[in-house]
Amino acid sequence: MTHAPLTTDASTDALIEAGRASMSLSYNPQPVVFVEGRGARVTDREGREYLDFLAGIAVNTLGHSHPALIETLKSQLDRLVHVSNAYWTEPQIGFQQRLVEHTFADRVYPCNSGAEANEAALKLARRYQRVVREQDRYEFITFEKSFHGRTMGAISATGQPKYHAGFEPLVPGFHYAPWGDADAVRSLVNDRTAAILVEPVQGEGGVRPAEPAFLAELRRICDEHGLVLIFDEVQCGVGRTGSLFAYQHYGVEPDIMTLAKGIGGGVPLGAMVARAEVAEGFTRGSHASTYGGNPLATAAGCVVLDEVLREGFLDHVTAMGERLRDGLRSALGDHPRVVDVRGLGLMNGVELDATPAEALQVVHACREDGLLLNTAGGTVVRMVPPLIVTADDVDLAIERLAANMGALDASA
Ligand SMILES: *Cc1c(COP(=O)(O)O)cnc(C)c1O
Repeated sequence: MTHAPLTTDASTDALIEAGRASMSLSYNPQPVVFVEGRGARVTDREGREYLDFLAGIAVNTLGHSHPALIETLKSQLDRLVHVSNAYWTEPQIGFQQRLVEHTFADRVYPCNSGAEANEAALKLARRYQRVVREQDRYEFITFEKSFHGRTMGAISATGQPKYHAGFEPLVPGFHYAPWGDADAVRSLVNDRTAAILVEPVQGEGGVRPAEPAFLAELRRICDEHGLVLIFDEVQCGVGRTGSLFAYQHYGVEPDIMTLAKGIGGGVPLGAMVARAEVAEGFTRGSHASTYGGNPLATAAGCVVLDEVLREGFLDHVTAMGERLRDGLRSALGDHPRVVDVRGLGLMNGVELDATPAEALQVVHACREDGLLLNTAGGTVVRMVPPLIVTADDVDLAIERLAANMGALDASA
């Protein structure tokens, strides 16, 4: 039996109007109501099917309705949904063990979102400097065009003025270096610096993979000055780039890594992981979250990690990513409004010579044509499909995007 609020007889227009009337003005969903998803496809209330190249913003790692995820969640629902971190549960322990086994890290702080994972990382870095190293180091270096979430700490870390507007004063102690500029980082380091926080592949800022030498240099700077290196892999982690974690692709190990988005495959889940010495910054009671480690969410995390670690899964991500970029370059490389096609694995962007409003016209035209996308950094069309997309899905997405580039001129 379906609980009444989950389905209604209202028309879709009336439903959307009711949604708009009652929702926080900080959101602006596109005018479509989804009711179902299978693999890389979702279906709206009118029965129209869409190819999903947004994947809930790089979240639906295994696609929609993955059988192993459904089965595990259903059986966990039947057994136990929540007890809090006052007790242990098997899924939580399994989740921690998997992350420790497959990363540089020794300890896991389970939480529920990317902003929370970053908040935990910032707090741990300060505590580590003060409690373990007994240094009065509390400042952070982050990057322009970065994105780290929406809590006060996370927006303060985010090097984009549009996320700060109206929320000042920010948390003090953040300095922003130009993206990719290790010399600028060196000149910002002082005897108050605690940590450097960086996305190995910038996501919201416009899909920008770091140069390998840049991340290696950040590691060197941290080692020279006793700083904590934090990788925000909330978007680029969990197989997205074709490696289990992006740091493995780059061969540069951070001290702390933050995860969310794809780690739960659609169930809200985040984690901050740290190597042993740094993790000692937290002592009993110094940080917590009521939902953190929730057995339903961590059960999902276990399934996602097991599936992504299956033989051949990551090779598939790499192959599909190459097919997507090659296809986009041959279909759009000569387009007068296409500036760049870039990405790593299945985290890709097509940068347009356009205004943000024009880039959105392309997104809307594609949706009307059955392809879900969004923009990042205003003028970059972002493609972050489920990692299970097929070659046919990739080819169809390229075809539909190419067919709707005319939306740029329509808005001129
Ligand atoms: C989305 C994102 C966040 C914030 O995650 P939330 O779950 O929305 O809080 C943080 N960092 C990066 C790199 C992200 O892409």
